[in-house]
Formats: sequence, structure tokens, C-alpha cells
Amino acid sequence: MKIKYIIIHHSAVSREKNSEQFKAINNYHKRKGWGMIGYHFLIEPNGRIRVGRSESQSGAHCIGRNYDSLGICLTGNFDIEDPTKEQEKSLKILLMDLLKGYKGAEIKYHRDFAVKTCPGRLIADDWAKNLINNNNTSMIIKKENEPMLYVPIGNKLIHFNTDWPTYAKNFESEMIIELSEKEFEKFEVITNVTINNKLIR
Ligand SMILES: [Zn+2]
Repeated sequence: MKIKYIIIHHSAVSREKNSEQFKAINNYHKRKGWGMIGYHFLIEPNGRIRVGRSESQSGAHCIGRNYDSLGICLTGNFDIEDPTKEQEKSLKILLMDLLKGYKGAEIKYHRDFAVKTCPGRLIADDWAKNLINNNNTSMIIKKENEPMLYVPIGNKLIHFNTDWPTYAKNFESEMIIELSEKEFEKFEVITNVTINNKLIR
């Protein structure tokens, strides 16, 4: 199966109603006669990535595209609630990992192929794509073995006004992406601008 698209869905069931939806969706899709859950991955509100179908198996998640796509479902109803930070982070990691293996695959939403809001009205068109490019200003960059922190803006890095030991004490450390020297050198460091100790969203 040649993977052309990675298609993102929401489960359309609010996480307040059901926070662990893998089993429910699996049973629902089985009842539809699909053998097992139609998605390849499901991301729960706590960020846990559950594996559904194997990547070599066609999904059952997007009519007309099941033969050339992988399906990722985030549980929640994003017509009325936002994905959790944990879901966002896991999706980013999963997408980066899949794109390494499926070079040239495009990130799409279910609504790109169907008259639906999926993955939800509150999800901006560029949300998933922005997660994996460097414009994501909610991420903080750290060069390995150095205490300075930076905020990425495009391919530029701006000094963050807090060093790593201070940051680690006060903020969520999972926002940090540590880069090797080689990766770090791909960025241009802007030295005369500093961003205050808050995350820009
Ligand atoms: Zn969908």
C-alpha cells in the first residue's frame, strides 16, 4: 500500500462523556463488520497513542482514500472542545515519526475528502501541519549540553529569557525540544531580541 495521505479525525464523542474511547470505538467498528477499529492510531486525552490497524493494512476511516492513507483519530469532540496539550504533543511526535517513514505523504483532515467537520470545527486548517513545522512557537528549543533556551520563529531562533535550570523548575519540561549540535546549526540565532518568560501561543 502506497501511503499518500495521513488523515486526521476526531472521535466526535466528548472526552467528558468517555475519556478512554479505544475499546468503545473498536467494538463499534467491529459491529459495523470492519473486523477491528478502522483507524491505524488513536490518541487518548492523556496523550497515550493506541495502535489500531497495522500500517500495512488498509484502514476503514475515509471513504475513497482507505487504500492510500493512514488514519489517526484523536478522541474528543473538537466541534465543542479543544484537543488536550498531551494529544497535541503525541500527534506531533507520531506525525514526525510517520513522515520519516512515508516520505512525501501529505497531512490531511477527514473534511478534505468528505462533507464533514471532522476533525472538528475548532481545528484550524493548518493546525496539524503547524505542529510539525518550525513555526510552532509553543515549543522551546535547547541545544544539547547548553543551558540557553530559544523560541523558534521559522528557521530563526530567538533567545528565551530563562535558562534551562530555571525553566525546568517552573514550567512544563515537555515543551522542550533538545537538538544536537548538527540539528541546531540549521537555525539562525537572533541575538538582539529576547522573549519574556511566557509562552506565546
Ligand atoms: Zn473522521
